[in-house]
Amino acid sequence: KFGINQALQDLGLNVDQVNNGTSTGQEWFSNGEVIESYSPVDGALIGKVKSTTREDYDRVIETASKAFKTWRTMPSPQRGEIVRKFNEELRRLKEPLGKLVSYEMGKSYQEGLGEVQEMIDICDFAVGLSRQLHGLTMHSERPGHRMYEQYHPLGIVGIISAFNFPVAVWSWNTALAWVCGDVCVWKGSEKTPLTSVACQNIAARVFNDAGLPEGISCLITGDYRVGEMLSKDERVPLISATGSIRMGKIVAQAVAARLGKSLLELGGNNAIIVTPDANIKNTVIGAVFGAVGTCGQRCTSTRRLIVHEDVYDKVKDAIVAAYKQLRIGNPLDENNHVGPLIDKDAVKNYQAALDKVVEEGGKVIVEGGVLEGEGYESGCYVKPAIAEAQNEYEIVQHETFAPVLYLMKYSGDIENALALQNGVKQGLSSAIMTNNLREAERFLSVEGSDCGIANVNIGTSGAEIGGAFGGEKETGGGRESGSDAWKIYMRRQTNTINYTTELPLAQGIKFDL
Ligand code: NAD
Repeated sequence: KFGINQALQDLGLNVDQVNNGTSTGQEWFSNGEVIESYSPVDGALIGKVKSTTREDYDRVIETASKAFKTWRTMPSPQRGEIVRKFNEELRRLKEPLGKLVSYEMGKSYQEGLGEVQEMIDICDFAVGLSRQLHGLTMHSERPGHRMYEQYHPLGIVGIISAFNFPVAVWSWNTALAWVCGDVCVWKGSEKTPLTSVACQNIAARVFNDAGLPEGISCLITGDYRVGEMLSKDERVPLISATGSIRMGKIVAQAVAARLGKSLLELGGNNAIIVTPDANIKNTVIGAVFGAVGTCGQRCTSTRRLIVHEDVYDKVKDAIVAAYKQLRIGNPLDENNHVGPLIDKDAVKNYQAALDKVVEEGGKVIVEGGVLEGEGYESGCYVKPAIAEAQNEYEIVQHETFAPVLYLMKYSGDIENALALQNGVKQGLSSAIMTNNLREAERFLSVEGSDCGIANVNIGTSGAEIGGAFGGEKETGGGRESGSDAWKIYMRRQTNTINYTTELPLAQGIKFDL
């Protein structure tokens, strides 16, 4: 079926036996309960993975701590060379890994391949970065002194990731953390345990072939209880956590209680503002892909469309017509636009959101519903829906991780649209569709979008590796990937060197003995 068994084999996964979900590289062991991974595509059992116990976890952390002592002393361009080799393996295994992502998570095969491409891109970025981990130098106020800052590796980076980007988020963190000299312990989503094992297989092989100590790339498996082992562990200086706002609030408090560092990548509530000057054709493409791509399960998915009253009916009609064209079905079949939701709980949340928006006074203009019958046996396929709604509705204020798009109208000036766009607690991605320079600049200005990502004439969904990725407010404030996001994976040290025979004090203080 779409070559899944071959893909599993290529990735070194056991189809008939239980896979170990705990690994330090050379060693694979796991003594916890077994997680069964069912595909949302057809409801079939794909494989089983054994989760991590407290004892397994401690063994991982001890091995990672030891590995850090070696890895941190290796020059960073040499660490970059290891990431380059890892990247070669990703290029070689792009198709099977993309396929498994698609089958275990439910996104389209194209998006599965796109996710692996992101891994490849971040590795390319990291290899270049390995020669650019620079600090500043500054002039000292004291004569005969030199001052500069440098960045040292941090230690163990704990990575907690979500089901919807089951492989890319791991690599966004590891590729940078590795060149920075850190070792990584990853807890992937319990909903996609096989993709995690597949990735660790690739990394472990590369580190082993290079003759490096085990523990530079580690995997642990399980639900929030295993995540808590990481977030509460003083031996783990940085926790990078991607997932829901609910999870982020718990993890942030656990990490703060021990004064650790956290990098949070949480939920969004992303809007596109459509002004009277917008190109309607591009608006429709951007909005529809943003709302239904990955079945509405991207942190950057378009949730709200804020349309000027002058073009409201035109945009509404065009979007409703576009929704009629959508083909829903097996995401491995390239003819389909929309695949399944991750599981039946997600289907319930989707249904509850549609009920709630009607209860609050909204009007459904593209009906939703759960699909049944041939091809839909998993029970996870739903119809993308659109409702006309008000921004202040409770349901609109929350992120529903499903293809439900809220349509709302604004009148008058761009300020009114911005007030709606910014009038939610989340602050991840935002976009404006306009050919009016003043409106575009206003949207990007200090009084404009309050999100971490603000786009002009493209949608909210998706991002490139080169920029720092993340959002404000309840999205958590973290930045990953490009630009100077690497700095969080290192500790900064300020150094002052006195090359005179005297000992002058700062601020001109005299201290004569
Ligand atoms: P989730 O919060 O249910 O789970 C995410 C991860 O956190 C999982 O690995 C889970 O086991 C772990 N976890 C849950 N509770 C925990 C706790 N108390 N302590 C430690 N770990 C815990 O999220 P999900 O359903 O897998 O993913 C969907 C969410 O992720 C959406 O809200 C989406 O917007 C968000 N997301 C954000 C980004 C981003 O970059 N901002 C990217 C992808 C997904």
